[in-house]
Amino acid sequence: MTYSIITKQRHPDDAWRLPDYEQTRATFTWDKARSWLSGLPGGGMNIGFEAVDRHIEAGHGDWEALRCVAADDSVTHISYAELAADASRFANVLVGLGAGPQERVFTLLGRRRELYTAVLGTLRARRVLCPLFSAFGPEPVRQRLALGDARVLVTTEALYRRKVEEIRHLLPGLAHVLLAGPVTDLPPGTLVLDHLMAQAPPVFAVPPTGPQDMALLHFTSGTTGTPKGAVHVHEAVVAHHATAAFALDLGPRDVYWCTADPGWVTGTSYGIIAPLTHGATLVVDEGEFDVHRWYRILDAQHVAVWYTAPTAIRMLMRATPRGSGSGLPGPYDLSALRFVASVGEPLNPEAVVWGQEVLGLPVHDNWWQTETGAIMIANYASSDIRPGSMGRPLPGVHAAILERGHDGRAAVTDGHVRPVTQPGVEGELALRPGWPSMFRGYLNDRARYDACFADGWYLTGDLAKRDEDGWFWFVGRADDVIKSAGHLIGPFEVESALMEHPAVAEAGVIGRPDPVAGAVVKAFVSLRPGYEPEAGLKRALLAFARKRLGPAVAPREIEFDQNLPRTRSGKVMRRLLRARELGLPEGDLSTLEGPV
Ligand code: AMP
Repeated sequence: MTYSIITKQRHPDDAWRLPDYEQTRATFTWDKARSWLSGLPGGGMNIGFEAVDRHIEAGHGDWEALRCVAADDSVTHISYAELAADASRFANVLVGLGAGPQERVFTLLGRRRELYTAVLGTLRARRVLCPLFSAFGPEPVRQRLALGDARVLVTTEALYRRKVEEIRHLLPGLAHVLLAGPVTDLPPGTLVLDHLMAQAPPVFAVPPTGPQDMALLHFTSGTTGTPKGAVHVHEAVVAHHATAAFALDLGPRDVYWCTADPGWVTGTSYGIIAPLTHGATLVVDEGEFDVHRWYRILDAQHVAVWYTAPTAIRMLMRATPRGSGSGLPGPYDLSALRFVASVGEPLNPEAVVWGQEVLGLPVHDNWWQTETGAIMIANYASSDIRPGSMGRPLPGVHAAILERGHDGRAAVTDGHVRPVTQPGVEGELALRPGWPSMFRGYLNDRARYDACFADGWYLTGDLAKRDEDGWFWFVGRADDVIKSAGHLIGPFEVESALMEHPAVAEAGVIGRPDPVAGAVVKAFVSLRPGYEPEAGLKRALLAFARKRLGPAVAPREIEFDQNLPRTRSGKVMRRLLRARELGLPEGDLSTLEGPV
């Protein structure tokens, strides 16, 4: 099915703040974008300052920063001045605990006021923030806390009990655990955040901070090995700010709702930092996803700009499909909504058009990664939309499609790559480094960082094509990582956890396509002698993996297979498992071990 281009209607009161794409791209420089922010009074740059203090210095301390919607729909309003006081208190708490500059503060929290306090307090104190998914199980949590040299962890009593208590003894460097919210029975070795905050002064001068000082650590997954900690620096805020204007049409006092999990890079870059730098009001939904709840929030909170994910949009679509004539599933008034965008997985063209029909606005797809720190390719706010396309590189971003080699990744010959010149030809998506939010390394892993670059390009690991007008279309991953409901899952992490079960000899993990979540994790498992492939064992393995890895990462399905295909070097061939699962051609089998 072909979908026609959606032409942008100019807002009646000319709400687009942006000149057209070509014009902005031709005149944009990152230096210009730097001048859109303040910088620290004595020079340098600090994300915490740009997000909050800047507005207070401009006399806007009374603007609403956070609008927290509790599970029972009650609302708490927090001004920029109150947020500054909270963040300062938290910075003073860190100093009081002896957590030094550049030491790592981890958060394992849902969306709640203390998340914003901890993030902004950590950044303004020039400590390094590392957010974790609260849907992770104890093993992913342990691994990331250990790899990231966690010194302080902010979590809740319930999450601590479920995910940290049993692994705490394995983390000798984790000096302090602060519990946010009410605490009924204080676990040994933890502190009540509220008590510390009450004693801490509400003023904390931002220390000298260099633009290249480490600010954020975001863990992401690769095909093999442990999770990788992508390092970002304080000047990343320049890209957060500029791209939020270009790709989200965000501006001062917009009511803005980002539904991304706070443990994902989107939850930090666009869930906290970018909108605050614009002086927007952030809707903080403390409840769980529910179709009616979400429409209620859009309506009652008068959300103007909404940044969400394809899986969520597909779940809303199921409630009111296109052409069902039912429109919204209730008497909701979305007239305040001005702009809708999504990220994280391919957005099917049907979803873009559904937005136009049911929400009254098309959904703007955009593309980026943990490593890029900010949106790189987008359906630019004031441009028309080509349903199914990720859009075009934002001003200041240079992208190319590189010819592929035998391993599916960009072919590098004598240190050189070859950009594809023909439109419509698939290749690896690559970016020219140089934007401020580019990651500066993987923590303690130089080799894996170096492997991301060739011939002056950053290789994204994604396959894409470009049409004759310069629009980019996502094709798939060039490696084995799995995107499920927007979360990047490393198959190795899942295989390793399964192999800790005494019954499992070997495991191979793939993403099986799913109409709503994009993909779900499926594991193929061979058993050790003495174990029978029966339903009880399957259930036990699923439960084992879920307990260790948490629901966001654990496999949904297990299939027993005593003859997992392996390469001659002994590695399970996930590519072949996937091809067989999907009934696709099996491709080059020359490295396969033994008979097929
Ligand atoms: P993460 O680093 O967890 O944010 O995941 C980044 C990956 O998500 C990218 O490399 C893509 O594979 C995928 N991704 C992000 N945005 C899009 C999009 N708009 N369309 C398709 N895939 C996307």
